[in-house]
Amino acid sequence: MSDCIFCKIAAGEIPSKKAYEDERVLAFYDLEPQAPVHVLIIPKEHIASVAEITEENSGIAAHIFEVAARLAKELGLEGGFRLVANTGADGGQTVQHLHVHLLGGRSMKWPPG
Ligand code: AMP
Ligand code: ZN
Repeated sequence: MSDCIFCKIAAGEIPSKKAYEDERVLAFYDLEPQAPVHVLIIPKEHIASVAEITEENSGIAAHIFEVAARLAKELGLEGGFRLVANTGADGGQTVQHLHVHLLGGRSMKWPPG
């Protein structure tokens, strides 16, 4: 997707502060952190949101969770963390490229706003 900001970040066309990268995913620090640790994990291929996950492409979702678990350990989130995938307008999604927020380093509230 030529006009997608996260595709551009995945391609290295827009700079980001990288936390992890492999052939399938990139993890980078959120520009407006909502917690002491706030990393976004994205697939390198353009998938618009969780609503576009199917039996055919769900392997990437499993891989994102594996990367989240690895990063949480590396970043010292022994006390726990939160994964968030805002989806669609009601879900508060502002960037239309699948991303999972990894939030940690403070105690989280429930329910979210
Ligand atoms: P969401 O509201 O769930 O779609 O999350 C989008 C997130 O992307 C927000 O937390 C933004 O702060 C973050 N964001 C937008 N542009 C960038 C960027 N260029 N680098 C890092 N984070 C970004
Ligand atoms: Zn994209």
